[in-house]
Amino acid sequence: MKRYSVFAVAREALRYHQGWSRAWKSPEPKKKYDAVIIGAGGHGLATAYYLGKNHGLKNVAILEKGWLGGGNTGRNTTIIRSNYLQDASAAIYEKARSLYETMSQDLNYNVMFSPRGVMMLAQTQHEIRGYKRTAQANALQGVSTEFISPEKVKSLVPIINIDGPRYPVLGALWQSRGGTARHDAVAWGYARACSDMGMDIIQQCEVTGIRRENGQVQGVETSKGSIDCQKLGIVVAGHTGVLADMAGFRMPVEAVALQALVSEPIKPCMDVVVMANTVHGYMSQSDKGEMVIGGGADGFNNYTQRGSFHHVEETVRALIETFPIISRLKMLRWWGGIVDMTAIDHQFFQKHQLEIFL
Ligand SMILES: Cc1cc2nc3c(=O)[nH]c(=O)nc-3n(C[C@H](O)[C@H](O)[C@H](O)COP(=O)(O)OP(=O)(O)OC[C@H]3O[C@@H](n4cnc5c(N)ncnc54)[C@H](O)[C@@H]3O)c2cc1C
Repeated sequence: MKRYSVFAVAREALRYHQGWSRAWKSPEPKKKYDAVIIGAGGHGLATAYYLGKNHGLKNVAILEKGWLGGGNTGRNTTIIRSNYLQDASAAIYEKARSLYETMSQDLNYNVMFSPRGVMMLAQTQHEIRGYKRTAQANALQGVSTEFISPEKVKSLVPIINIDGPRYPVLGALWQSRGGTARHDAVAWGYARACSDMGMDIIQQCEVTGIRRENGQVQGVETSKGSIDCQKLGIVVAGHTGVLADMAGFRMPVEAVALQALVSEPIKPCMDVVVMANTVHGYMSQSDKGEMVIGGGADGFNNYTQRGSFHHVEETVRALIETFPIISRLKMLRWWGGIVDMTAIDHQFFQKHQLEIFL
């Protein structure tokens, strides 16, 4: 694979950009792989990448029913943070956040990581207590966060209204090394690196069944035929329950639609990420100038990649009271993604009798 660099760009500019090769190949599936990963989102591709990079396992296929990065990876609000209370959550999210610090260099692909800082507003006494507790827990976990005053909030985000009509801003949990990244570039960067290691990324290939024998996974049935494998990874976000069902076990997760929307682009007016959980809405400004807005999850199970109307209304109302300056902005796009939620609201690890890795 040709490395991306300023010299490569200059060289290609002189020969009409004829020398670039495709970032990843689109092969037909082989009959058998050492490992098959279902789902070519950021997590599936990263799983494959670290299997190859850290464990030398390269005879790997990543199967995707749509196009790579077309699931939640291309639908999220791009926020990167690790300011969680529970030790297990903080540890895994801080590991993930720290990978972003050097991801562009590691993958030789610009994922546009922007550690601009993430703040979570405290708008009730309960939130003040909760976020102060989280800041203390984070200090013990080695995660750098602090509880900041309303004045500091205002100085970091001049467009915010700290005297909101329903809930004033009473402070915030601030993580200065949190931020954003270009979400689909993360998928593209991992895909390019996986393909370069010889792995097969097979798009438009839906897994329709999982073959097992004596508690051992033998392979998968797909829309492109049968594929054998020794190990299987199910990395399909909101479809985890569906795929686990094919493998013959139930997962304690439920699928719900989570939604987001984006405004027309405007001049730079906010260079941090703000999350307002009490009124419920969060917002950042993309490099193109659009205000990227995240809303709530539907309160019922569904697999639609749209959000419901009442949520978008609540989200926009919450953000207009927090940022009155955006009240006349036009919204350009609105979409949803399917997330798998656990009842305990954080991740769990468990060994299963089925010989399968997740
Ligand atoms: C609106 C929204 C906003 C969000 N905002 C944030 C945020 O700001 N910060 C953050 O950290 N997280 C956010 N998230 C969560 C984040 O997007 C997800 O955790 C992450 O993208 C999941 O990546 P993934 O690779 O696990 O799943 P996905 O990207 O969804 O990839 C799973 C893939 O599996 C494929 N698949 C499913 N079934 C099959 C099958 N049978 N056969 C083959 N392929 C299959 C799908 O097509 C999909 O491409 C948000 C999510 C949404 C929906």
